[in-house]
Parts: sequence; structure tokens; C-alpha cells
Amino acid sequence: MVRQPTCPICQTPLSAADAAESRFSPFCSERCRNVDLLRWSDGRYAIVESLDPAQIPELLETDDSLGFEAE
Ligand SMILES: [Zn+2]
Repeated sequence: MVRQPTCPICQTPLSAADAAESRFSPFCSERCRNVDLLRWSDGRYAIVESLDPAQIPELLETDDSLGFEAE
């Protein structure tokens, strides 16, 4: 079985060719790539605005649950 690549933002299935050739890989489009950038920016701002030592463990747990892929 070949794992179907999907856009991490909108979950649109990508063909192997699309995934390999896309300028926006691993995203399906420039729009989704930008959404991802904004999402990370928003997350950083939210953490800065609401920085509270009591909340840090919760934030770290939340980040882990996102299934972040380093590769
Ligand atoms: Zn997408």
C-alpha cells in the first residue's frame, strides 16, 4: 500500500506526482502554504500575549498533540 500524500492544511489528497513536483510541497497550493505560515505566526503571538508560567505545560502538550512532523 502506498500512503496517499495529503495537504497538511486542507487534507486534499495529492497524487504522488503532485507531491513531488509541487512548488508548494508539502502543501497543495500557495494558499495552504500561507495558511500554515499564518497559523504558526498566530500561535507564537498567542503564546507571547498570554505567557503565563502555569500555562506553559498545557501549551507544550497541545503542541505535541498536533502531530508536528519535523521531516
Ligand atoms: Zn491544501
